Amino acid sequence: MTDKFRALLIEKHGEGREAPQSVRLAELNQDDLMPGDVVVDVDHSTVNYKDGLAITGASPVVRRFPMIPGIDLAGTVRHSDHADYNPGDQVVLNGWGVGETHMGGHAERARVKGDWLVPLPGGMTSADAMAIGTAGYTAMLCVLELERHEINPQRGPVLVTGAAGGVGSVAIALLSNLGYRVIASTGRASESAYLKHLGADEIIDREELSEKGKPLAKPRWAGAIDTVGSTTLANVLAATEYGGAVAACGLAGGGDLPASVMPFILRGVTLAGVDSVMAPKDKRLLAWGRLADDLDRAKLHAMSQEIGLGHVVQAAENILKGKIRGRMVVDVKA
Ligand code: NDP
Repeated sequence: MTDKFRALLIEKHGEGREAPQSVRLAELNQDDLMPGDVVVDVDHSTVNYKDGLAITGASPVVRRFPMIPGIDLAGTVRHSDHADYNPGDQVVLNGWGVGETHMGGHAERARVKGDWLVPLPGGMTSADAMAIGTAGYTAMLCVLELERHEINPQRGPVLVTGAAGGVGSVAIALLSNLGYRVIASTGRASESAYLKHLGADEIIDREELSEKGKPLAKPRWAGAIDTVGSTTLANVLAATEYGGAVAACGLAGGGDLPASVMPFILRGVTLAGVDSVMAPKDKRLLAWGRLADDLDRAKLHAMSQEIGLGHVVQAAENILKGKIRGRMVVDVKA
């Protein structure tokens, strides 16, 4: 069997942050990969917002060159020196710096730390796991945060911002399945039917939340999952009901937070930060178990489309322009 495999490769031309980078489809050997105790034959990967930043170079996400992008992968163990994994096991990896500082998932093969892997949940295909990907697993982490702060369906509606994106789409499907009334905030009115199909009960224009507002506004939701940040997050907090909670995971609208403390000190609102990259293994196993149980597979398929490695660069450019609906799955063999 040939040792060569295809991979997307980001290369930097020169020193320093401003030096240009290029991306090409390359043929590599296993020796080109970085150290790790498990070799995985990758079946599927994904294109997340962060992959868009890495591949276009819009943000300094990649901190080692050359780099194979792809912060997610799902595949089959080819070789293992790790006690928990054997050849043939099906595994999933999200984050841990893969696609940033360690060669990532946009390749037919990966060599990684076994400690970074979780077993593919029973009943899920590798394509399903990557339709979920970091975006969907982060949506689940956000739902877990709302639950931890006792935001249940009886407390009132939950807002999802960046609704037609990857995190937003999975969040809506999950919340709806769990019985919440879901308010979806989107800039794409054309996606209303799609969002309603996923389970949104009400759709609002994201412009309602993007202009600077009052420190406290009329309470509109018991909880929120925010993927946008900046002024949007400030307005989301200002309109959260007494004792409510907001899970913040994204910065699609900006990394700043021009907010006041009023929602915290007058309404006891909680702002819960969500990170998927370095989340500990027990949290990952909990999230993936819940995704297997609580995410409607038909809705997952409706929100995802599959592309080959050759189309990843275009998808990366499109996701930064907010042009991608739902989730992009990469069939690395195609
Ligand atoms: P997507 O690009 O798929 O979705 C982002 C959505 O945000 C867009 O679809 C759009 O939704 C909305 N949006 C885009 N630009 C703006 C803007 N300028 N103002 C307001 N809304 C905007 O990305 P993902 O869902 O994959 O990721 C969403 C965010 O979450 C990103 O910032 C990403 O970096 C972050 N993230 C963080 C993680 C963590 O561990 N904390 C993990 C995963 C993602 P619409 O068209 O409906 O308005």
